[in-house]
Amino acid sequence: MSTDATTWRDVIKRPKRGVPEGLWKRCPGCQQTVFRKEAEKRLGVCPECDYHWYVSAQTRIEQVLDEGTFEQWCADLTPTDPIGFVDKRPYRDKLAKEQERTKLTDAAVVGAGMVRARRVAFAVTDSAFFMGSMGSVVGEKLVRTIERATDEDLPLIIVSGSGGGERMHEGMFSLMQMAKTSAALARYDAAGGLFISVLTNPTMGGVAASFASLGDVVFAEPKALIGFAGPRTIKATIRIELPKGFQTSEFLLEHGFIDRIVRRKDLKSEIARAIDYCGK
Ligand SMILES: [Zn+2]
Repeated sequence: MSTDATTWRDVIKRPKRGVPEGLWKRCPGCQQTVFRKEAEKRLGVCPECDYHWYVSAQTRIEQVLDEGTFEQWCADLTPTDPIGFVDKRPYRDKLAKEQERTKLTDAAVVGAGMVRARRVAFAVTDSAFFMGSMGSVVGEKLVRTIERATDEDLPLIIVSGSGGGERMHEGMFSLMQMAKTSAALARYDAAGGLFISVLTNPTMGGVAASFASLGDVVFAEPKALIGFAGPRTIKATIRIELPKGFQTSEFLLEHGFIDRIVRRKDLKSEIARAIDYCGK
């Protein structure tokens, strides 16, 4: 056995300069450096520790819906700057930059597609765009999707990757989306619809406090951060030590807030199974 200080494993852990950009990826779960291709083959899940990392809205659509079945709705809805918001930089400029960077018009992508040959209405929020926060476009896109699902009697799947809650840059216009999406879901429910809400890392703030929690069935990916206010804020407010694992999927399953933890590779089959089980 070699006593050389640099073992093969060390080389894997510390990629040297000169390794092509993007070949390796550091896992936020276990801090190991893993081969990007290997993680992608596992749908963006760490082969070492099962950490489920970020996937884009586009990738999520490819993972959950049958190949080539997605038809996008409301693609022409684009955000405006209703309150002329400026902090360090104008909201308008930030929007343009986010759109350029992510190639999305806003944080939600909505439409219809097939899950193992079952037609569904499908929406996903992307945490790369303003932390997936809900402004007026996200709210409006979701409501139009819910209403169309009601009219066409389709099961509804919303995958949330919204760590930013409501988008503060649109003030009250963002806040009212909580009531708006919830009201649309109540009408969908009264019409007998089946809503499967899928919570992914992170789902926080006003998104967690509105549509994301209103599923007939609520799934969550393993170890996702799900909650309303962040743990630091809560700790500072109520001044008690928070329990271990607070605001993780596992903690919330134990306390009845979610129905099932579903690993990414099983998500498609579990959605299909729930649809069949509910007779939709
Ligand atoms: Zn890992």
